[in-house]
Amino acid sequence: MFPPPVRWTGPASHDSRHAPSANAAAMRTRRHYDAAGAHCGLRGNRHPIRPCGAPKTAAMTNPNPERTLSDTALLIVDVQNDFCPDGALPVPEGDRVVPVINRYIEQVLAAGGPIIASRDWHPPGTRHFRAAGGPWPPHCVQGTGGAAFHARLDLPTRAVIVTKGDNPRDDGYSAFDGRDPSGRPLADVLKERNVQKVLVGGLATDYCVRASTLDALRHGFRAIILLDAMRGIDLKDGDVARAIDEMIRAGARTATLATIGQELEHEVRA
Ligand SMILES: [Zn+2]
Repeated sequence: MFPPPVRWTGPASHDSRHAPSANAAAMRTRRHYDAAGAHCGLRGNRHPIRPCGAPKTAAMTNPNPERTLSDTALLIVDVQNDFCPDGALPVPEGDRVVPVINRYIEQVLAAGGPIIASRDWHPPGTRHFRAAGGPWPPHCVQGTGGAAFHARLDLPTRAVIVTKGDNPRDDGYSAFDGRDPSGRPLADVLKERNVQKVLVGGLATDYCVRASTLDALRHGFRAIILLDAMRGIDLKDGDVARAIDEMIRAGARTATLATIGQELEHEVRA
C-alpha cells in the first residue's frame, strides 16, 4: 500500500515506491495520480485532485507543500466593478488588487487549494442602501455590470462563488454570511474541503475584508490577510489602519507576495 500520510518523506508511486526521498519526485508522483483521476491514497482526503501539469510555482519549491497550501483556501472578497474606479462605490485603487490577487490564485491553485470569490449581490431595494435608511449608495445590484467581477480577475472555472447581501434585510459584509450556488454557508464549504487556513484579500479592507477575516477566525480557521491584495475606503481617516489592527489583534497574521512562503512555513510549524 501507500506510505503513511502527512509528509512526503518518500515517493508514493507504484513505479518508484522505494526510490530515495525527493520532493520533486513526490510532486511528479502526485501529478501522476492526479492525471489518473485517482485519490493519492493519503488519509483524510487532504489532497484535492488537480490537473496534471499544473504550473510550477514557488509553492512547489517548498520542502513540504502538502502541509502548506493544500489545506489553504484563497478568499477573494468582492473584487467587483462597483468597488473599482468608475464604479458606484469605488474603493480608491480598488482595481490595483487584481494583478496581485491573480498571482495568489496561481499559487493556491497549483497547490490544490480552493479558490473562493465572494460577491456583494444586493436586490434593488435593501436596507443596506440610503433610500431605505442604510449607509450606502446603490451598488452591486443583482445582475448589473457593476455587480460583475472585475474583467481581469483570473477566476478559474472551479472557483466557488459565494453570494452575500442578497437578502433585503442583510448587509452582507462578511463572506461567511454568504452561500455557494448550492446554498451551503461558506464555513461548511471550507470545512468539507479540510481547509484550515484562509488567505484573505479583496475589497474593502475596512468593511467586507475585515468582517470576513474576523468571521474566519470565529469559525476556527487561521486567517492570513494579504496586505498587498486589499484596499480600503477610509471613510474616516485611519479606518483602514484600525481595521488591520483589529484583525491582527483577533489573531490574523499578515503576508504579501514576498513573504507568503515564509508565513505559510510559520503556519506549518505553529
Ligand atoms: Zn454592499
